[in-house]
Amino acid sequence: MGFLTDKRALITGIASNRSIAWGIAQAMSNQGARLALTYQNEKLRPRVEKFAQEFNAEFVAPCDVTTDSQIDTLQESVQEKWSDLDIVVHSIAFAPREQLEGMYLDAVNREGFNQAHDISSYSFSALARSFSPMMHNGNGSFLTLTYLGAMRSMPGYNVMGLAKASLEANVRYCAQSLGNQGIRVNAISAGPIRTLAASGIRGMKSMMDYYEKMSPLGRGVTIEEVGNAAAFLCSDLASGITGEIVYVDGGFNSVGFSQAML
Ligand code: NAP
Repeated sequence: MGFLTDKRALITGIASNRSIAWGIAQAMSNQGARLALTYQNEKLRPRVEKFAQEFNAEFVAPCDVTTDSQIDTLQESVQEKWSDLDIVVHSIAFAPREQLEGMYLDAVNREGFNQAHDISSYSFSALARSFSPMMHNGNGSFLTLTYLGAMRSMPGYNVMGLAKASLEANVRYCAQSLGNQGIRVNAISAGPIRTLAASGIRGMKSMMDYYEKMSPLGRGVTIEEVGNAAAFLCSDLASGITGEIVYVDGGFNSVGFSQAML
């Protein structure tokens, strides 16, 4: 029996088997969770249906988080299948490609700023507001994914760094709003991993090389490692943890300078 046995988990953001959400779905499924997966649009539906079969997920449903009515429809369909919900994983981010090129001030504009913040941060509050009323069992849990670019400037991460800073504040404010219902809200700040979203970031290879030299573990992290931490944070084992940003980055964020760089 796993530590998530019979917990019902709604997982967003699986685009491929390299997605962080794929690693989370796998880890949660290994620990006995019952899963539902979402897909952004019809193009991705067959792929997500295939993943749903792999994980024995109970259903899949569409949700583009830019549209309130799609979030409402998703909530209605989850309510129809499951009257209670224990876990929501928000593994969604987007910024227009040109926002991630060159220096921040040369790239940023109002539209790109708003879109990045809407999809990558506001959508987390929208999901928390819609799905928290379905968490009746005590110790419900929301989880999102962030990156160190929220705390430190990074070349090419640009407006996404601002959106992640907003997302991290969002975690703390949602934790405050939902704590009196026994609902916990946390984020994992993952080290860089080669996924579809990460392919939009220039210089990913140099960044990975630097990571390997600087992090105490001397290597990058995997979606399995992020998945395992996510499963723990959304389980009753983590019942005292809320409002936290937990780093799963091989310790990179803790280092000023490493032995390997000397
Ligand atoms: P990914 O596989 O490309 O996943 C990103 C997901 O966001 C995709 O499923 C994408 O769907 C979805 N999405 C984008 N816009 C959406 C919208 N309007 N409505 C619904 N879904 C939407 O990349 P990933 O690296 O696993 O990213 C997952 C999360 O981890 C993101 O928040 C990312 O910032 C964070 N993160 C990633 C890294 C890294 O190095 N990879 C490090 C730290 C944190 P489509 O494919 O259909 O657009």
